[in-house]
Amino acid sequence: MRAYERLLKYVVVRTPSDENSSTVPSSPCQFELGKILVEELKSLGVDNAYMDEKGFVYGKLPATSGYEDKVKLGFIAHMDTVADFCDHDIVPVITENYNGEDFPLGTSGRTLTLTDFPHLADCKGRTLITSDGTTILGVDDKAGIAEIMTMLEKVISENIPHGQICVAFTPDEEIGTGAQSFNVEAFDADFGYTLDGDGEGEIQFENFNAYKADFEITGVSVHPGSSKDVMINASLVAMEINSMLPSGETPRGTEGYEGFYHLMSMSGDVSNAKLSYIVRDHDASLMTARLNTLRHIEKLMNEKWGEGIVKLTIAEQYKNMSEIIATCMHLIDNAKKACERANVVPQVLPIRGGTDGCQLSFRGLPCPNLGTGGHGYHGPFEHCTVEGMDQATDVIVELVKIYAE
Ligand SMILES: [Zn+2]
Repeated sequence: MRAYERLLKYVVVRTPSDENSSTVPSSPCQFELGKILVEELKSLGVDNAYMDEKGFVYGKLPATSGYEDKVKLGFIAHMDTVADFCDHDIVPVITENYNGEDFPLGTSGRTLTLTDFPHLADCKGRTLITSDGTTILGVDDKAGIAEIMTMLEKVISENIPHGQICVAFTPDEEIGTGAQSFNVEAFDADFGYTLDGDGEGEIQFENFNAYKADFEITGVSVHPGSSKDVMINASLVAMEINSMLPSGETPRGTEGYEGFYHLMSMSGDVSNAKLSYIVRDHDASLMTARLNTLRHIEKLMNEKWGEGIVKLTIAEQYKNMSEIIATCMHLIDNAKKACERANVVPQVLPIRGGTDGCQLSFRGLPCPNLGTGGHGYHGPFEHCTVEGMDQATDVIVELVKIYAE
């Protein structure tokens, strides 16, 4: 079976995760896909496959006889999708011999354009898979699942010698909570790769350092008619705080390795106001400087308006995995080699976000990220090509071979 055929099977099982839920997994629909995947793993010959009570699917393909001392290599993809554009059935649209031009998505009024997705020009002649334009496709990250399954099928059916291969399909990546419940011990791999990147050939091991920063402002509210030198309007203090941040250092104004402050939400009246930011930087010392800037603003505001008027709370979200991967760069070198053997151009790119692999890397499972051939994630423009998925599959088959040499 080709990887895209599996993708088509998985995407119709809708699996939006729910950021307002406190259960694991955050939505019961993820169990439904998990059950299907366990059965499929078993039918491929991964007899030990199981799903735990948190919805994580694990399976191990034992090493070929004589290859037990080889690296135990892991592959991970996530089962959930974003909840946006996922409120009704997903109808994949398959277009053979795509003409390489702007592509209208069904009757939705939306169009995949070459301006937004310049890589489409290179997809001319390929078979394009999209949604009908009213939902996501679910290629993030069901393409990854499909490619891992297809790799297993190929390794088993073609008797490719291999060390132990460990696979896991995980819930709740999109809401950032999945990796916490990942059982690194049960997974039992020396190293892993997540398949959760974009285009085939992508290799990612540098991600943001990530923090949340909330300013809470407590004002002094009195009658506006008699408030001279008394009132402290919390909303105005909030606006003052934001104006002290560099205006170009926003997601819109930055790219590549450039970091930013991103105002996610604001609320307020005279008495109370709140500003919620996420702060991102690849460079750890620049990240520290950003956090110090925020602390400096808190200090200045409290000196100006009075102690306790402004309270800043900073919380770490994830760290740049590059410091961990730097100790095992063979993961990157071999991924490049695997791309070349699969006739894919390797592209090492910094991630302007994080992956489950960041947390796993810091928990003892170094875990860079590979492209699946998908594009336009988290909205109705998600798409991929049949050929791109084949190539992404070939890349991980080659990785298995390389680690068995
Ligand atoms: Zn993803």
